[in-house]
Parts: sequence; C-alpha cells; structure tokens
Amino acid sequence: MKKIPPVDLARQYQQIAQETDAAILAVLKSGYYIGGPVVSEFEQQFAEYVGTSHVIGCNSGTDALYLAVLALEIGPGDEVITPSFTFFATAEMVSQTGATPVFVDIDPLTFNLDPHKLEAAITSKTKAIIPVHLFGQPVDMGMVMAIAEKHHLFVIEDCAQATGAKWQDKQVGSWGHINAFSFFPTKNLGGCGDGGAVTTNDPVLADKVRMLKEHGSRQRYFHEAIGINSRLDALQAAILQIKLRYLDEWNQQRQQAAQLYTELLNPIPHLILPTEIDGGEHVWNQYTIRIQNNDSQGINRDRVREKLQESGVLSMIYYPIPLHLQVVYQSLGYPLGSFPQTEAIAEQVLSLPMFPGINIEEQKQVAYALKETL
Ligand SMILES: *Cc1c(COP(=O)(O)O)cnc(C)c1O
Repeated sequence: MKKIPPVDLARQYQQIAQETDAAILAVLKSGYYIGGPVVSEFEQQFAEYVGTSHVIGCNSGTDALYLAVLALEIGPGDEVITPSFTFFATAEMVSQTGATPVFVDIDPLTFNLDPHKLEAAITSKTKAIIPVHLFGQPVDMGMVMAIAEKHHLFVIEDCAQATGAKWQDKQVGSWGHINAFSFFPTKNLGGCGDGGAVTTNDPVLADKVRMLKEHGSRQRYFHEAIGINSRLDALQAAILQIKLRYLDEWNQQRQQAAQLYTELLNPIPHLILPTEIDGGEHVWNQYTIRIQNNDSQGINRDRVREKLQESGVLSMIYYPIPLHLQVVYQSLGYPLGSFPQTEAIAEQVLSLPMFPGINIEEQKQVAYALKETL
C-alpha cells in the first residue's frame, strides 16, 4: 500500500531541480542576499503576471495582509469584513492593527464569503472588505467591487490560495485596491520557505507599503512611521522566478486532477463534491469534499478521515473551527449559530491529496479508499 501525502513538494522540485540548483548557486555566489536585482526582477515578473502596476515582495502572506491593512490606515474603531471560514491570518492581521473583524457567512457552493450577505454587515465603521479566494476558487469580484464602490469601502483580496485564478478573465489580486499573496511552499506558487507579496495599481499605496515594510523608513535611518521588517529574500525570489514560469502548467495539472476526482467520486454516496462556479477560473489549491454526516447511518467526517489514513491516504481538514468560534474571538460576541453555513461546513470538509504531478493511480487509490469507507 502506497502512502499518498496531501502535497508532495519534493516531486515538484525534481521537475525543476537543475535550473533551481543553478539559480540558488548564482545567488550564493553573488553575495546579494537581501533585496537586489533578483528580488526586483521577480517583483516585475509577478506584476506582469497578475496585471498590476506594483508588486512589493515581503516575508509572508500574513505580512502582506498586515501591510495592506496598515497602508489603508485602518486601525482602532474601524471594522473590516472577512469570512469566518478562512485561515486565521485573514482576521488576525485586521486585529493586529487594532481594528475589528466583522464576519459574514459563506456560500456553501463556493466555500467563499457570500457577496449577497455583505451589505447586511456594513456599518458606519466599516472601512474595508477582505474577500478570500478559498481553496483556489475566485470570489465573484464583480459583485464585491460594486458593493464596495457603492459604500465607499476598500477591498483587500486575500489571494494566498489562488495565485493564477481568474474572475472573468482578470487575475485575482488585480481587482481589489491592495491585495495579498502568500508564497508559502504549499500554495500554488510556493517558494522553499516563507514569502509573500502585496499587489496594487495605486502608486501612493505601493510607496507606503515599501516604507512600512522597511521599518517605516524611505531613507535609511529616517523613520516616519511605526512599520515592520518584512523582506522577500533573494534566494526565495530566485526560486519563485523559476516556478512562476511553470505556474500555469501546474495549475492546469491541478484542474485536470480535480476533474478526474470528480469523475471518480461522483458515484460515491454521502459526498458533496466541489464545483467551479461560472465566471471564474478555479486553480484548486485544495480539492475539498463534504461528507454528509449522519449519525444513524454511522457516517462521520472524522471517522472517514481516520479510515482513509489507514489506507495510506492522508487528507486534511481546512478548517475545523470557524474564526468566530475561536477562543481569542470570544470577545467579539458571536454565539454558536451565528453563521449556519460556516458552522455546518466546518464539520463536513475534507481536503484530498492535491498537487501538480499527482498521478491517476494515486487518485484512483484515494477514490477506492473513500468508496470502501462509505
Ligand atoms: C496561507 C494563508 C495566509 C498566510 O500566508 P503565510 O505566507 O503563511 O503567512 C493568509 N490567508 C490565507 C487564506 C492563507 O491560506
């Protein structure tokens, strides 16, 4: 029995080993490790790819979110709308500025925040909306931007899981006023360590982010704001330059793998399979199914996961606890039942092994193991 991991980064490295090794050695020999030409080249290439006039590399997707919120001068007394069904960093970086995250429920079809529920969450304190393109599925950005414009709000796209995804033929990260990407190794464009980027078409915001990520300074040792230290280093930028050239091919492989999963899993009962909504291009950072829990029939997501593991199939739960129910956010006062879709789905989701290069035999083994448990 073969073990199938949730992601296999070593397999991806093998495909680009020669050119990656050479690029890493070239950086080592250059003596230029922080900033420098390799980082600015990558920033330019990524700007061209996403289609924004500015890209600022930074240390992580978390920092990219923080820098975006800071640059918009969001802070104490302000509210920022985010989904509750996302990675913690989305709301955490709002809280880090002293502002308050305000959660909305998701659309169970997309796992993304339901744009129809946005307006009810807007108050006089609302400053921004952070749509998260979860699992690689783009949010309906046309609708989000229209609502934001009507209420004079900023939009910060959290693109961490969706590099390369498009809404209506326009890349995610080019819709919002200022947007955040992560290059964490398991993301669609991932480095060999931490990394992130902010994208924007606004030169004033871009300039501000560059200042804030350098200890609030434009000129060395002259500080005009309380910022942070956040750098995309040259080794990561060199690796990301290479991987960016493969990104579309790898996203296509994810799309093909998603299609095959859907064919293989369709006949299995008690499953709800993920779908791609019209208007967007999904890049499948995760292939996330829902198990229809049923006590009387003994169907339970956590048991399914354990049984899969016994058959060598390693699945993941993204995310078991919605943000509004996290201990740290008890003070925000959202009781159980606040967001029924989010709460139900957190108990049903199971993300299956998904990565470029996963092969048909592996996917068949996953499907077979699932069939055996249900
Ligand atoms: C990964 C992720 C982040 C954070 O990115 P890091 O690079 O790990 O800091 C933020 N939001 C979402 C939705 C993510 O998946």
